[in-house]
Amino acid sequence: MNLKIAVLPGDGIGPEVIRQAIKVINTIERKFNHKIEIREGIVGGLAIDKYGDPLPEETWRICEESDAILLGAVGGPKWDNLPGEKRPEKALLKLRAGFNLFANIRPITVFDELIFSSTLKEDFLKGVDFVIIRELTGGLYFGKPKETRFEDGEEVAIDTMIYRASEIRRIAHVAFKMAQKRKKKVTSVDKANILECSRLWRKIVEEVAKEYKDVVLEHMYVDNCSMQIVRNPKQFDVILTENTFGDILSDEAAIITGSIGMLPSASLGNSKKGLYEPIHGSAPDIEGQNIANPLATILSVSLMFRYSFDLEEEANIIEEAVRKVLKAGYFTRDLYTNNPYAKKLVTTEEMGDLICKVIEGGA
Ligand code: NAD
Repeated sequence: MNLKIAVLPGDGIGPEVIRQAIKVINTIERKFNHKIEIREGIVGGLAIDKYGDPLPEETWRICEESDAILLGAVGGPKWDNLPGEKRPEKALLKLRAGFNLFANIRPITVFDELIFSSTLKEDFLKGVDFVIIRELTGGLYFGKPKETRFEDGEEVAIDTMIYRASEIRRIAHVAFKMAQKRKKKVTSVDKANILECSRLWRKIVEEVAKEYKDVVLEHMYVDNCSMQIVRNPKQFDVILTENTFGDILSDEAAIITGSIGMLPSASLGNSKKGLYEPIHGSAPDIEGQNIANPLATILSVSLMFRYSFDLEEEANIIEEAVRKVLKAGYFTRDLYTNNPYAKKLVTTEEMGDLICKVIEGGA
C-alpha cells in the first residue's frame, strides 16, 4: 500500500517518543512491503517561536495532503502565559475542528505486567479491555453563548451545552460499529434524569441501536459510570458518551491502567484521515533525558494502521510486540521502580529498538 503520514513531533518529549514511532513505522513498511512517505511538520511551542503560530500554514498543508496525522505532544512552561489563541494547545483544537474529527477513541487495556502500578486491586483489573468513544466537537465545550458578563452589578459566566441529533447519530454509529468488532456491547453514558441534551442523546442512540441488532445497548448515568469504572471495569466493552463526560471519564479510566506513558488515542471523522497521539503531554520535567516511555506513541501508530489504513495485521503485530517486550521484563523508568516483573531498565531509544526487533521477528 502507498501511504502518506504527517508527523508532528511537537515539544518536550514529543520528538523523543515520535522518533521511536517512526522507527516502528519504517519497520512495518519493510516487513509488509508498503510504501510509506513520512512528512514532518512543526507544531506547538516550537512553531510559535519560529512562525508566531502554533499550527503554521505549511504544517496544515502537510496534514491535508496526508492519509493520517501522528502527533507527539505540545506545550511547556515557556508558552504557559500566552493568551488562549496563541497557546500551543490551540494547534490541537484547530486540527480537530479543521478535519472535523468528532470521535475520540481511547482504548483502555490493562497489561498484566503493569497491574502493580495501578491503584486498584489485581482481581478487578486482570482482563480489563474496553474503549471509550467520546464526542469531541460538540456539547458544552463549543456551545454558544460562552462568555462572562456583568448582570446586576456582578460577574456571571455562561457556557452552553447543545447537541444536534445529527451530531449524536454520527458518533453513535462509530460506537456501534466498534462494538460489532469487539464484545458487542455499548454502554451509553448520559445524565438523562436532569439534562435535555442527555434526553435527546438517549433517544437518538436508541434509534441508531435498531440498526445494530447484534449489539446490546445499555444506558448508564454518568455519576454511576464514574463509580463503575473503579468498582468493576471488566463489565465494559464500548462506552459511548458526550464531550464533557468523556473528557472526565477517559482520564479516570486511563489511570486505572497504571501509567500515562502507555495510553494511545485516535481522533476520527467521516473520512479515514485520523489524528493519532499519546494521551500524555510534553512532560518537560523529563525532556531530553532519553527516559520517556515511547509506548503510548507506538500504540498510537498501531491505532493508525487499524483505523486509517484498515491494516489489522500490522496493528496487531505492533500491539503484540509491546506485550512481548513487557513480558520479557524490559521497562522504561516510569514503570521500572517497584515493578516485580522488571528485569532491565531501558532508555526511550532502547525501548523503540526492542519493539522493532520483535516486529522484525528477531526476538
Ligand atoms: P504530562 O502528561 O506532560 O506529564 C505528567 C507527568 O507524567 C509528568 O511527571 C511526566 O514526566 C510524566 N509523563 C508523561 N508522559 C510520560 C512518558 N511518556 N513517559 C514517562 N513519563 C511521562 O502533563 P503535564 O505535566 O500536566 O503537562 C506538561 C505540558 O504538556 C503542559 O504544557 C501541558 O499543557 C501539555 N499537554 C499537552 C498535551 C498534548 O499535547 N496532547 C496533553 C496534556 C498536556
